[in-house]
Amino acid sequence: MKVLVLNCGSSSLKYQLINMENEEVLAKGIAERIGIEDGFVKHEAIGKEKLIIEEDMGTHKAAIRIVLNSLVDPQYGALKSMDEISAVGHRVVHGGEKFASSVVITDAVKKALEECSELAPLHNPPNLMGITACEEILPNVPMVGVFDTAFHQTMPKSSYLYALPYELYEKHKIRRYGFHGTSHKYVAQRAAALLNKPLEELKIVTCHLGNGASVAAVDGGNSIDTSMGFTPLEGLVMGTRCGDIDPAITTFIMDKERIGTHELNNIMNKKSGVLGISGVSNDFRDLEGAVAEGHERAALALEVYHKRVKKYIGAYAAEMGGLDAVVFTAGLGENSADTRKSICEGLEFLGIKIDDNKNNVRGKETIVTTDDSSVKVLLIPTNEELMIARDTLELVK
Ligand code: AMP
Repeated sequence: MKVLVLNCGSSSLKYQLINMENEEVLAKGIAERIGIEDGFVKHEAIGKEKLIIEEDMGTHKAAIRIVLNSLVDPQYGALKSMDEISAVGHRVVHGGEKFASSVVITDAVKKALEECSELAPLHNPPNLMGITACEEILPNVPMVGVFDTAFHQTMPKSSYLYALPYELYEKHKIRRYGFHGTSHKYVAQRAAALLNKPLEELKIVTCHLGNGASVAAVDGGNSIDTSMGFTPLEGLVMGTRCGDIDPAITTFIMDKERIGTHELNNIMNKKSGVLGISGVSNDFRDLEGAVAEGHERAALALEVYHKRVKKYIGAYAAEMGGLDAVVFTAGLGENSADTRKSICEGLEFLGIKIDDNKNNVRGKETIVTTDDSSVKVLLIPTNEELMIARDTLELVK
């Protein structure tokens, strides 16, 4: 059985074709600049030559057509015919309170997703466009929606409720939802496997440190708290997002800078984070380079970043009443030994002892603490596509 996994953003579409018999990736790629000029698709069937197709794609449907044609291309493809695609799994960012697990897409589900769109106006509409386009091109293939928010639906009300008037929660569903759920779930499961212990018995803090970043407290396999909130802006310092700030700063900036909500959102989402503090870049590779050249604000940005992650690890250990493991994943968490070391420095009192040799590694499942470290720190490359494919297979079987 072959499952196509689609992750549709506003102007891009990432895909993977996975053979579920052995969970191997058969082909993968990305369509970029959908709806704008100079569009292109980068496609690769594993073991074959890479293909770049330069073609403008007005819609997600046009992009999906190119992807499907590439998948069945005799020279560059991985399939003889589109009939070999048994199901399509879609990443959907926001499932609101309606979806605590993945679902087979039906008209009722699509309607519910439209209702969730006001909670994620930048993300859910392109996800829905991908779903509609697939329905039109592959009308007989079952589809499944896998939500970034679903894993966190196990949070108790005391974790997800904000201290605002309760009516605002009832009227507008203002609460913590959390994101990156598929990633937190995957790495928590892998951590249990690597530690050779049942997930149900473990208290784990999972740190997804990529372009967007979030931390989750996973107690017995369930998310009981997470740092992203009503939107993916809350919590950690990120590449360009501010994360936690005093909420009163927002109205203060609007008054002082004479700006409206649109510009304020732009500042908090696109001009803040390590980019905002350093003035250098939102990419941690650039920042590490700048620090090596003595750039003080780049060093300060990293310090603020590390301290925030450390603060959440401590908070979640307290919330869970103990800690067995900390997991690092995503672009920065998987690749930067310095980041893992700086975050864990000072956490020896919790029982964390980083082994510098073991930590000097990237992109590979491994334990990076000493053998006598009572709390284990793990590096686990995330694999959201595989999780989406597994859920898809499970639901359409
Ligand atoms: P992701 O969103 O998971 O793709 O992560 C992307 C981010 O990971 C980039 O913005 C980089 O800052 C960071 N990153 C990727 N590779 C490295 C690396 N080798 N060293 C430091 N940071 C990295």
